[in-house]
Amino acid sequence: MRILVIEDEPRILGFLKVGLEAEGFAVDPAEDGVTGLALALCEPYELVVLDLQLPRLDGLRVLDELHRGRPELPVLILSARSDLPTKLRSFQLGANDYLSKPFSFDELVARVRVQLRHGGGDDASTVRVGALVLDLTRRQARVEDHVTDLSDREFRLLYHLVAHAGEVVSRERLLSEVWGYSFDPGSNVVDVCVRRLRKRLGPGSPIETVRHAGYRLAVA
Ligand code: CA
Repeated sequence: MRILVIEDEPRILGFLKVGLEAEGFAVDPAEDGVTGLALALCEPYELVVLDLQLPRLDGLRVLDELHRGRPELPVLILSARSDLPTKLRSFQLGANDYLSKPFSFDELVARVRVQLRHGGGDDASTVRVGALVLDLTRRQARVEDHVTDLSDREFRLLYHLVAHAGEVVSRERLLSEVWGYSFDPGSNVVDVCVRRLRKRLGPGSPIETVRHAGYRLAVA
């Protein structure tokens, strides 16, 4: 379980790192908003603990960007600001939880565990078809040892193929079910997304092209 802690006060950052590691989590520290956001967008964290008053990029901006880039990643705000407007703004921007400083470490750990429980680690939230494992809560796909995060569209596309594994699914049907189009806008939007998805899934991608018909998820 990897957690990113974005916090500019060295004393609190050190305390959180040591404390969370003692609880069995792997913790990466970031001391400013820019570094934190960059890490959060590219590393496979399961949770971010985010301070709000940060150098270089304010915590609310980090939250906003993060929620756009990785909406599935839970964010727990840990801030000295305890006023209601800031809290409400945080939730509006996608925060999953909010804890004011000073805080109890035990309460923080309890809240972290609640978020991680929501976020996965539960086998009921995964679907396996052949070599593919789709994690529905983390929106991740695994083919053999290759794990990848999926965008919202990629996830919905793959989910649809998984739900109809072994069947040929036409482009028209995908356009309708995944994109919500009742007509073909004349673009190759489905093919482009499938190509990107295959690339993400790696060489073991189970998505097959059925000529003049559509796509099929291989079941073995
Ligand atoms: Ca701060």
